[in-house]
Amino acid sequence: MEINEIEPAAIHTEEPLSPLRTSAPSSPVAATIDILPARRGSIAVAGSASAITSCDQASLAGSVTQRACAFCGSRVVLYPIADALHIVHGPIGCAAYTWDIRGAQSSGSQLYRNSFSTDLQEMDVIYGAEKKLAHALRTLIARHQPKAAFVYSTCIVGIIGDDVDAICRTLSRETGIPIIPVASEGFKGTKKTGYRAACDAVYKLVGTGTVAGIPPVSINLLGDFNIAGETWIIRDYFERMGVHVVATLTGDGRVDAIRQCHGAKLNLVQCSGSMTALAKMLEKDHGIPFKRVSFFGIEDMSAALYDVARFFAAQDPGLLDRTREIVRQELEKLIPELHRYREKLTGKKAAIYVGGAFKAFSLVRALRSLGMTTALVGTQTGDKDDYEQLRQLCDPGTVIVDDSNPLELAKFCLEKDIDLFIGGVKERPIAYKLGIGFCDHNHERKEALAGYIGMLNFAREVYSSVMSPIWQYTPRRAVQVA
Ligand code: SF4
Repeated sequence: MEINEIEPAAIHTEEPLSPLRTSAPSSPVAATIDILPARRGSIAVAGSASAITSCDQASLAGSVTQRACAFCGSRVVLYPIADALHIVHGPIGCAAYTWDIRGAQSSGSQLYRNSFSTDLQEMDVIYGAEKKLAHALRTLIARHQPKAAFVYSTCIVGIIGDDVDAICRTLSRETGIPIIPVASEGFKGTKKTGYRAACDAVYKLVGTGTVAGIPPVSINLLGDFNIAGETWIIRDYFERMGVHVVATLTGDGRVDAIRQCHGAKLNLVQCSGSMTALAKMLEKDHGIPFKRVSFFGIEDMSAALYDVARFFAAQDPGLLDRTREIVRQELEKLIPELHRYREKLTGKKAAIYVGGAFKAFSLVRALRSLGMTTALVGTQTGDKDDYEQLRQLCDPGTVIVDDSNPLELAKFCLEKDIDLFIGGVKERPIAYKLGIGFCDHNHERKEALAGYIGMLNFAREVYSSVMSPIWQYTPRRAVQVA
């Protein structure tokens, strides 16, 4: 089916569909994709008077959101805790979010790669599945000897009302390990709701270990998922600076390290959408301040290192100089390589659609360092402050979207004549169907894109995708030629 054959969705609205045009379309196809009137508050254009007035709320009925369910949000945050048992209490389909379709790495235990499920069937739904869950936990804990267990509630568990908390308490006493319920019933909300459930769950481990021996210049990394080993890259920079990393909570995580993470003196929050709540709990209860950082792109990576160096400057006067030296060494290797890609990529246009706003900020800057412009940028979980920052950061004319859907994304990609789409697994088919280069910047990728080496990998991947000769044979180009 061609895009111009798709009927615009008109569910739950009496208002007529009306086109929202941001500029003269370069493709006639773009002009045929309309925007639901109730979505107008979720779309803005940088450099104009428009602003995002509707965000950080439930998705509009009739608009097929790219967000996932609360369970998905919890699972993606917690499952990189590698030496814990993760069991999904629900039908087998929910357990599809496994390591195999994600890229988080572990330097030791591989237990987290198993996708254990209670595989609820019809009789379990009718009579309840508490005994089944208890039996599964007993069996798996005896077999795998995990340091802790997380039990994820899914939609159906919320409906049938199994007392997961009580089972976890009982089995925890019986087995002697923390068994933590995750209140992640899918229908509770989007993955952002699940992030909060994950923070509440993992916080039950915090403060249960000893802080003896933790040096004063020490940090925790929150919200880096060690995709393709990125946490190891970042950890190496800090260790070269002389900063001790106590716990990497969400990437190559370990139960014992999380138990003692309240002994660190600073928290770095990379994925602000998922981990800010946990950082605030640690600040409130343990007096640990936090900084929002990003490890993507030259500017943000360097800013993160310098932020930490300045924070600990009083405790370690040589830290800032060591940091400058590390940044200098890394840039000396990186910049000549980037120039080669920049020559070819200058003037190309990108679309960004990612989960959190902080990653979007970094990507806009990283693309700029490659000579590219961002013509479309959006997030699933941004708030008004995030979008205001994006408006100020982006070039005039850039379309900014909150909680977008495939039709809107397709429309703006065509209208802006995009050369590259940066997104996740749900955006990949949109890009390929439109004949646009794609760069995976989500949990599914197998390429490290964080840190200085990650910037080089990013440039290489962007170059390979944008410059591929395949795009001249795609429908989008054919439409333009016609
Ligand atoms: S929406 Fe419900 S049923 Fe679907 S994956 Fe999420 S928890 Fe499972």
